[in-house]
This record gives sequence, structure tokens and C-alpha cells, in this order.
Amino acid sequence: MLKITDLNTHYGPIHALKGVDMEIGKGEVVSLIGSNGAGKSTLLNTIVGIARSSGGRVEFMGKEITNSPPHTMTKLGISISPEGREVFPALTVEENLRLGAYTVNDKKKIADSYERVYQIFPRLKERIRQSAGTLSGGEQQMLAIGRALMCGPELLLLDEPSLGLAPNFVLLIFDLIKEINRQGVTILLIEQNANMALSASNRAYVLENGKVTMSGDAKEIANDPRIKKAYLGLG
Ligand code: ATP
Repeated sequence: MLKITDLNTHYGPIHALKGVDMEIGKGEVVSLIGSNGAGKSTLLNTIVGIARSSGGRVEFMGKEITNSPPHTMTKLGISISPEGREVFPALTVEENLRLGAYTVNDKKKIADSYERVYQIFPRLKERIRQSAGTLSGGEQQMLAIGRALMCGPELLLLDEPSLGLAPNFVLLIFDLIKEINRQGVTILLIEQNANMALSASNRAYVLENGKVTMSGDAKEIANDPRIKKAYLGLG
């Protein structure tokens, strides 16, 4: 579904992605793990055109989309829930969700999307008229993911969904991610919480200093002694 070949991204003199190759098949949950500054967010941002690649290729469903502008992504079927959530604090839950469907004109489709989001996140339904700024961190994360689902994406990119959440919320968010995938959405998950990410994924890539240093079955990666030591706090 998504094929990335020899992708490079520079920020001025900083070479943030150094020839990244990655493939994601339809229906998979793939996680991308790596330490601070490895280039994880840069990879997501380059896929969706927020950062500009200086070389390489991104293909989605067989079509080249390298450096396509961000506003074209939802129409293609790609949606991103950015790091730091970025919900609009003064707007209500419902208004924030509506913004996620700004490219959709069909009223029935929008109504169905609200229903789907409220079915996955009943807590949001209970808070429809509450301003997003008054939600808890975990609820804001749900809102950011819900907003990304409002355009009915085929591929959902999640940047650090568990960041800053209390442990019980982390478990809940990962359960909900699995539920979203069960409903047919392919997911690329960026996480510093490698443990949770690997347990929720089919496959994983490890990014270090702008390069993929390991990839494979998520269970195998979780059992790799180097990964255990560097990312799982074990060994
Ligand atoms: P984190 O988990 O801390 O966000 P990350 O793996 O997502 O880390 P990136 O945010 O992609 O890493 O950063 C990769 C490198 O690119 C870092 O050295 C960072 O300082 C640099 N970088 C990221 N964004 C920019 C930018 N807008 N301008 C200049 N340099 C940037």
C-alpha cells in the first residue's frame, strides 16, 4: 500500500533521513521505533508533504506521491494524527472532529464518520459540546485520532499517540488503535514506547540516526537482544 524507496530529507545542513526504505501492506499495523531525534517525525512529515524530500520516492497504492502537498493527502486516503495532538482548544469536540472532514462534502459520509468515531471513542460522544482545551491529555489524544479518522482514511499515520499519557490511558489508546485496525484501517505507528508499539504491531522498523537499522516481524524485533537493551529497558 505504501512504498518508500531511498528517501532523503534535509533541513538545511541537517541530513535527517538518509535513504530510508519501507513498505506497508494493506491491513497491517507497522511500528517505527527509534530514540529522540532519530528522524521518526521527519519520516511521517515527509510522507505527507509537510517536510520536503531531497531524494527518493513515496508511492501510495501504486501512485507516486513524493512531495505532494499536505492538503492532497486526505483525498488520497492518508491521514495523520500529529505529535503533540494539536487539537484546537477553543473549539468543541464536535467542531474539532468536523475539521478532520473538511475535504468531505457528502453530508451522509460526515454523519457516518461521526458515528464511527463516537463508536470507537464513546468518551468523546459524552463530551461533544465540551471545548477541547478542557479535555484530559488522554481525551485530547482520542480527539486527535478521531479527527484523523473523520476523512475515512485507508492509511492512518500516528505520531507518538501515547506521549505524556497516564499508564491506564496508554493501554486504552493501544486497544483503540487495534480496534481501528480491525475495522480495516492500515496503521503506521511512531512510538518511543517501543514495548507497547511492538505488541500492537505486525511488523516494525527501527530508525537510528536517519537510517533503518533493522526491520521485520514485531515479535522477533521485540526479542532481539540489541532492541531489548536499547529500547525496551531490558538486559
Ligand atoms: P522525537 O521523538 O524527539 O520527535 P524523531 O525521531 O521524531 O524524534 P525528528 O523530529 O524527525 O526525530 O528529528 C530528526 C532530526 O531532524 C533531528 O536532528 C532534529 O533536530 C532535526 N529536525 C527536525 N525537524 C526540523 C526542522 N523543522 N528544522 C531543522 N531541523 C529539524
